[in-house]
Amino acid sequence: MNSSAVNKPATLSSSETGARVERLPLSRFTTLGVGGEAEVWTVGNHAQLREAMSAPYRILGGGSNLVVADEGLMERVIRLGGEFAATDLELDPQLSTPEQLITGWVGGGVPLPGLLRKLQRLGYGNLEGTVGIPAQLGGAIWMNAGTRFGEAFDGLHSLEIASPEGTRTVTPLDLPWSYRDSGIPRNHIVTRARLKLRPSTPELVQEKMDAADTARKGQPKNRTPGCAFKNPTLPGGERLGAGKLIDEARLKGSRVGNAMIAPEHANFIVNLGGASAADVHALLALIRSRVGVHLELEYELWP
Ligand SMILES: Cc1cc2nc3c(=O)[nH]c(=O)nc-3n(C[C@H](O)[C@H](O)[C@H](O)COP(=O)(O)OP(=O)(O)OC[C@H]3O[C@@H](n4cnc5c(N)ncnc54)[C@H](O)[C@@H]3O)c2cc1C
Repeated sequence: MNSSAVNKPATLSSSETGARVERLPLSRFTTLGVGGEAEVWTVGNHAQLREAMSAPYRILGGGSNLVVADEGLMERVIRLGGEFAATDLELDPQLSTPEQLITGWVGGGVPLPGLLRKLQRLGYGNLEGTVGIPAQLGGAIWMNAGTRFGEAFDGLHSLEIASPEGTRTVTPLDLPWSYRDSGIPRNHIVTRARLKLRPSTPELVQEKMDAADTARKGQPKNRTPGCAFKNPTLPGGERLGAGKLIDEARLKGSRVGNAMIAPEHANFIVNLGGASAADVHALLALIRSRVGVHLELEYELWP
């Protein structure tokens, strides 16, 4: 692939291994709907992934925790497709027991909401607590996404991780995982995972999902990358609600360009249509200047 080809917008070319290489606006792939162009490599097998990782790259999941710069990115952006977006929920007879069901491999690029619908229909529990998180499985595992009803690692038997150094299979016991953190180094790619599930019934799984869903009732419906800030902890250990602090600073409904602090929940910044990353950054700066406690960002800024 020559460099002039990749510099043209929306040029489609192919790599040596047949990966799909396009120059695309990342606003297409983020839940916020914001982000400039990058060279997007869609890879469907390990040979394509190895080639994609041969230059500086970032791995994109469901784009549900990202604010991507309007100027776009210099690095390649890798998206998982093909065998990394396949779902094999057939139970492994060697590994499964009556209490613990171990599936075949599920791709890191599989959207979590669709996967959870399948698990509900089969009556398989353990991942119900992650309902409503618009991630891909790999992204959810990478940050151990979850709610107070459960997290990604609750349903994880083993996973395959790829990096330029090679591919390895590990179990959660091999990782220093904790609250909202898998311990997997940045840019090590979760290519697929085997799930560890609990036999249940579709009705009971649905009941648990409904409980987790009900807790989201106050969240805005507009495009957003989720919560803006982590709940801060004061030196004495007291934990404060970031949304409450922003609300108390009377910032609900504040607007810069087409980005707004959601009237429904102050810890969400939403895109009213046509917002830019610069609008979102301006709102984040406004919040920090008006809230008297240091607030740590919940989502990632690319770059
Ligand atoms: C409406 C809404 C509600 C949300 N609710 C919750 C919630 O309740 N709980 C919660 O924890 N989060 C929540 N989030 C945030 C977000 O969904 C999670 O952080 C999720 O884990 C991000 O996954 P993703 O696939 O979208 O990753 P992306 O946003 O694409 O990427 C986030 C990070 O993960 C890395 N990554 C992505 N895929 C992979 C992979 N295959 N291998 C390795 N690294 C990867 C990226 O490089 C990046 O560093 C919410 C977001 C929205 C928009």
